[in-house]
Amino acid sequence: MIRIALVSLALLALNAEALADDARPGGIAMIDVGAANEAQPNVRYNGKPVLVMQDGGRWIAAVGIPLDIEPGTIEIDVGDERRSVSVQEHSYVEQRLFVDRKYVAVSQASLDRIGRERKIIDAALNRFVDTPIESIRMLAPVDGRRSSSFGLRRFFNDEPRAPHKGMDIAAVVGTPVLSALAGEVVATGDYYFNGQTVIVDHGQGLISLYCHLNAIGVEEGEHLEAGDVLGEVGKTGRVTGAHLHFGIYLNGTAVDPAILLAAVEE
Ligand SMILES: [Zn+2]
Repeated sequence: MIRIALVSLALLALNAEALADDARPGGIAMIDVGAANEAQPNVRYNGKPVLVMQDGGRWIAAVGIPLDIEPGTIEIDVGDERRSVSVQEHSYVEQRLFVDRKYVAVSQASLDRIGRERKIIDAALNRFVDTPIESIRMLAPVDGRRSSSFGLRRFFNDEPRAPHKGMDIAAVVGTPVLSALAGEVVATGDYYFNGQTVIVDHGQGLISLYCHLNAIGVEEGEHLEAGDVLGEVGKTGRVTGAHLHFGIYLNGTAVDPAILLAAVEE
């Protein structure tokens, strides 16, 4: 594994204070859940443990809000009490494609494979390891043009497909892909849709996903620092061109990676 010194690592010194509350479907609600000199509160959403970190003498919970939720109010459990958090409306772009059926249909053998892989991927994305986390600010895993296609709702021949749950970053095949934050490699594989993939667990239910890689440069169980190279940009899996699909998950739900990337890097 190669380590690259990055000027942008200094950005990791920024902490949650710089992260605004962004409570929309696919966003992150930042909630003050108590003084940091008290025990770490147990925070849950939909029964799942939620990331909690210290910031400015407070415990702050970062709750991933599902893309498919209706705007309104969600309930967060903080210890024995319930907190209401209001979720703002946000409209995501719709894309309607009309394609020959043979390009949409998937064989039974492929469906079986997709089902097996889905279990492995879901297990990795739903992990929760209760290790302390100082900041959820991330660095861009690859330099390149970032699309704003998170949340894009796609229809093939009027049939709804799963919304796009990540950020696509265009770059040429072979460009190094960096771990966006320190963590442990918890899954690597060559999957039907995602192609060659690496999944990194950063602790507290914060997971990052790197897809369509040309090559994987790490092994499961390996510890990575932010900025460590984990593979190369590629076009494996179901893609039309070389790019990195970068996904971020909190409490098992996909959130918009743009929220966690430092904007000042541009
Ligand atoms: Zn993508």
